[in-house]
Amino acid sequence: MTALRPALRPLDDALAELLGHAQPLQGTESVSTFDADARVLAQDLVSALQVPPQDNSSMDGYAVRASEIADEGVALPVSQRIPAGTAPGALVPGSAARIFTGAPIPQGADAVVMQEDTEPAGEQGVRILRVPVPGQWIRRSGEDVMRGAVVLAKGERLAAAALGLAASIGMNQLVVARRPRVALFSTGDELVMPGAVPPQQMKPGAIYNSNRFFLSALLRRLECEVSDYGIVPDQRDATEKALRHASHSHDLILTSGGVSVGEEDHIKPAVEKLGTLDLWQIAIKPGKPFAYGKVGAAHFMGLPGNPVSSFVTFLLLVRPFLLKLQGATRVAPTAVQMPAHFDWPRADKRREFLRVRRNAQGGLDLFPNQSSGVLTSAAWSDGLVDNPPGRAIARGDSVSFISLAELLA
Ligand code: AMP
Ligand code: MG
Repeated sequence: MTALRPALRPLDDALAELLGHAQPLQGTESVSTFDADARVLAQDLVSALQVPPQDNSSMDGYAVRASEIADEGVALPVSQRIPAGTAPGALVPGSAARIFTGAPIPQGADAVVMQEDTEPAGEQGVRILRVPVPGQWIRRSGEDVMRGAVVLAKGERLAAAALGLAASIGMNQLVVARRPRVALFSTGDELVMPGAVPPQQMKPGAIYNSNRFFLSALLRRLECEVSDYGIVPDQRDATEKALRHASHSHDLILTSGGVSVGEEDHIKPAVEKLGTLDLWQIAIKPGKPFAYGKVGAAHFMGLPGNPVSSFVTFLLLVRPFLLKLQGATRVAPTAVQMPAHFDWPRADKRREFLRVRRNAQGGLDLFPNQSSGVLTSAAWSDGLVDNPPGRAIARGDSVSFISLAELLA
């Protein structure tokens, strides 16, 4: 069943429909916290303890009672020594306790004097050279995490600091969403795999398959298990067979190329025969054509063939879809306002995603060639300017910047 929708669809509309199809995958797995980077938490992480567990010193120095040191120059006997990892006794009145960073504050002490503000006083004593303020240099129990707090919520996509935080509450295993299984196909008779033919011997009209490389990398960064079906042979039977095979064991079949309207290609009729296919014309540049469908239980997405279109539509549509499949709460990147250090006088009817790079002056430079075939622009850039339809940009204008570091994470 085919529904052709020749009218251009706004991106947000297309994304909302796609996300509506992205029901979170069944199944979770328990992985070592070491291996959980970039995975999506499948349950809330609740802390069974306070972090830090006790009030402790943030300096090497002396734990004291602030009220006992009215003036600078007071000398106190040192009544105990508290290295990190030891359990101190209560502070003897009228004394100081030698203490080290991370060591528990003894009962009765209410301030730490850093050792730089002291000098020895006799054999066993210390002279306090600066009057302490109550509470100084003490890290409070629970100031990082309170017992019972949700430290990381279900749907959080884990990153390096989050792994450390999970470890700080004692978690060595984390329950995460299972990995989406994605089958990757390239289409196009002009495509040749790098390595198959040396550059000097490429036939006229032949080009190397570049999409397969960045799509594979992008999918793996999203923690997908990728089955690379390579370049689908230009035969109907083989294509159907590959699609049918992929549909049994994958959550998503992703293709690039051959989704322009009216194009005679083998993927489109094969998907239509085995399942459903909607061809969308999305009002963005680069990346107008996009296909969504189902083959059996597997989702199907067809990206445009032009490399930059393929790259951008992946980031704007496929990435949020794959994150939602994993149950991620946050699927859209944060845009920030930045000044354009370039002119873009030709306003387009479509919403544009310009390849730009931040400069040291706090502005954005534009890659000079914004053609959808120029992959150099994507490799050069560190972000995209999300430019609304019909808007020309003059140097100094504030524009909406989306960092590629965030989109590629
Ligand atoms: P299509 O969407 O199939 O009409 O392709 C649009 C343009 O992208 C054509 O110039 C194709 O040669 C090119 N193209 C398609 N697939 C790839 C690919 N995997 N790698 C590089 N270029 C491609
Ligand atoms: Mg093609």
